[in-house]
Amino acid sequence: MLTILIVEDDALLLDALTGQLLQLGYGVHTASSVPQAIALLQAQAVDGIILDLGLPGADGMELLVWVRGHIAGLPVLILTARDGVEERVRGLNAGADDYITKPFNMQELQARLQAMLRRARQPAFTHAAGGAQGVFTTLGPLAIDHASHTAALHGAPLDLTQREWELLELLVQRCGEVVTREDVLAVWRASPAESGAAAAPVNSNALEVYVHRLRRKLDPSSLSIRNIRGLGYMLAKP
Ligand code: CA
Repeated sequence: MLTILIVEDDALLLDALTGQLLQLGYGVHTASSVPQAIALLQAQAVDGIILDLGLPGADGMELLVWVRGHIAGLPVLILTARDGVEERVRGLNAGADDYITKPFNMQELQARLQAMLRRARQPAFTHAAGGAQGVFTTLGPLAIDHASHTAALHGAPLDLTQREWELLELLVQRCGEVVTREDVLAVWRASPAESGAAAAPVNSNALEVYVHRLRRKLDPSSLSIRNIRGLGYMLAKP
């Protein structure tokens, strides 16, 4: 199955495109900003990108430049409201494989995408420095890579200790369900002890401290860790 990354900040259009591509049998990843897209590409192999140029913060053209510097041969289809000849030339000069302007016809987009992927037919790409493909989970603004034990929030890497990482991974894997204190302590006991100043005994008090720290790190997001009285914790679905 070919996997496409759609980078688009218009939620309605993103939903429509995602639905169409899933129906056509593609795997789909989505991002709504350049940093989010880069974080995803660093951890996840994709076969092509549909890229909107008008994005909040950084221009989509910046992602195109980044892709050309980091992932050889990954095809990029630019999708934008800008229909000026200058923009079109700029995009193609920066290495876009094709260019389609909004409003567009979904069938035309499909045809262009299929043609672009045929031309580029190669095995799935991974980030140049990424090595083996990671097992990756995204939850709203949070992206976690189970292989490298790293996480990013809104595209920015989260600085996590080993126990914070283990706690976060468990909460994400069981998002929307109660994770009991005993579940977390069992994972911690099974893993090597944390070293240095971060080391703390494995007990319920330590768990409260780690939950508190993790909440602060997740604070600039819609993700919240709820206390479930007498039982444990639950990461609420964003
Ligand atoms: Ca846009």
